[in-house]
Amino acid sequence: MISTIAPDLSQLDLGGVNAYLWTGSEGPTLIDTGMPGSVKTIITDLASIGLQPADLRRIIITHADLDHLGGARELSAQSQAIIACHTVESAYVLGQKTKKPNPGLLGYLIRPFFDLTNRRAKPGVSHVDEYLLDGQAMPEGFTVLHMPGHAPGQIALHHPDRGILIAADALNNRKGKLGLPSALFTPSMSQAIESLQRLQKLKYETACFGHGPPILSGADEKIAEFVRSVSDS
Ligand SMILES: [Zn+2]
Repeated sequence: MISTIAPDLSQLDLGGVNAYLWTGSEGPTLIDTGMPGSVKTIITDLASIGLQPADLRRIIITHADLDHLGGARELSAQSQAIIACHTVESAYVLGQKTKKPNPGLLGYLIRPFFDLTNRRAKPGVSHVDEYLLDGQAMPEGFTVLHMPGHAPGQIALHHPDRGILIAADALNNRKGKLGLPSALFTPSMSQAIESLQRLQKLKYETACFGHGPPILSGADEKIAEFVRSVSDS
């Protein structure tokens, strides 16, 4: 299901995980691509607003987890879209490296399953065209924020002119409240919390998440309060 969040920004609800479509300047740009099986839904969502994969100019991958990278290879095969991700994340996006789960005991125990799932799905894309860096200004008007912790090269995107934050999995908004990314799939929670501090200085009205519904007003203050609460504990 596709729904409008803000002018030029739509959310694609891919069942437990969101992708976003920017149709403003320099778009259409798809931000994340769901699980490997999500491509059909993405194509249907695009068609409902008169677009097809071939119209995508850019695909931005916030981080290489299966639920965000999954559809990228198939969609890039159906388009000439430039694939962009953070420089540090590129080896994972290309499938050359696999992220490690949490370093604790449970992470250790699930590691074989985690590796097998990734090997089976082979989510890596064949090419990355743009290697992003922190602070980089994107043609769409977003600024890249490097937010390591949940993934080494995860990015969030801030659109200062439109007052939008796309937070990826830096934090989520499940079950009506803000939360940290899943501990099991976060190699460094302390780094994830440190990354969140960066949001404290930013102004934005709307926040979008990899998981959970967006916050449509006063998002910066709500997130600031959450970040203070997790930093104090
Ligand atoms: Zn995710």
